[in-house]
Amino acid sequence: MKYSARIVEKATEELNARRSRAELDASVRRAEIFRRFPEAKAIDEKISAASREFLRIMTIREKNERKRQLDALERENLELQRLLREFLENCGYAADCLEPRYFCSKCRDTGTRGGRTCECFETLLKQTAYRELCESSPLDLCSFDDFDLNYYSADDGNNGSKSSRAIMESIYHYCRMYADDFSMDSPNLLMYGGTGLGKTHLSLSIAGEVIDKGFAVIYDSCPNLTAKLDKEKFQRAEGDTEDTLMDCDLLIIDDLGAEFRNQFTVSALYNIINTRLLRRKPTIISTNLDIAGIQDIYQERIASRIIGDYELLRFVGRDIRQLKKSPDAR
Ligand SMILES: [Zn+2]
Repeated sequence: MKYSARIVEKATEELNARRSRAELDASVRRAEIFRRFPEAKAIDEKISAASREFLRIMTIREKNERKRQLDALERENLELQRLLREFLENCGYAADCLEPRYFCSKCRDTGTRGGRTCECFETLLKQTAYRELCESSPLDLCSFDDFDLNYYSADDGNNGSKSSRAIMESIYHYCRMYADDFSMDSPNLLMYGGTGLGKTHLSLSIAGEVIDKGFAVIYDSCPNLTAKLDKEKFQRAEGDTEDTLMDCDLLIIDDLGAEFRNQFTVSALYNIINTRLLRRKPTIISTNLDIAGIQDIYQERIASRIIGDYELLRFVGRDIRQLKKSPDAR
């Protein structure tokens, strides 16, 4: 995946900050240990002297003599390092406590390894791009635990049809299981129904859990997301929105139908929904529209994909935001 210069710059900043932090921590630790244990400092100074000695030996012209001295130096050096480690362990420290603790020990937080980009930097680029996109989303505001089924009526079922609470209870459990078992084989979901029935709450709860599992999740409202795409396309704003939306592990599009629609936004939406289906990457869409509304507003090619390739979850009940304002109506 390609990233914009801005993302690369931000990720590089973070990488450099990681390296500086690890090195600063190590030098603070060294100073503290050497202050408490001058013996450790003495051994460490001998090790430093050995590296100066190495430079001197390299200037010896006579090959055999040079090799003899180098071998002796190496033995001495290994012995000193062993002594230092042993000493530190006896003082209750980890043997390598004087070394920087890098976030990534493979590349020592340089981001490259054997001339190639290290995986840690690839991950950092990805995370930076997702963070940019999710900035405006209230990802940590909702969880399954604070979803209250008491807001749904238990008495509105009749003639054998289920009450709102019974229907919502099974949707709630379905969503919990969806988050628990999330994988790249998870189905796509369409959450639909009137405003204030808990669609955003449950989709945010799924997002939170799936992120905790380490998946790359993007959550955004449809108006926001189409505005970003529009800006990148027509105002030449720099960004990776389209690539990132197509590539993330789980995409959650909130409030489909509330976006400003024109030919461009509709075809951009189609492109994202369709590409994700082809790449077998799960998508969750929530909307206040009903099925007929979706068919009315969007071209057949979008509507048939959403309706045909998504699990449909119909939310029922009365607007919770209204009920919360006037608790007596509950
Ligand atoms: Zn690395």
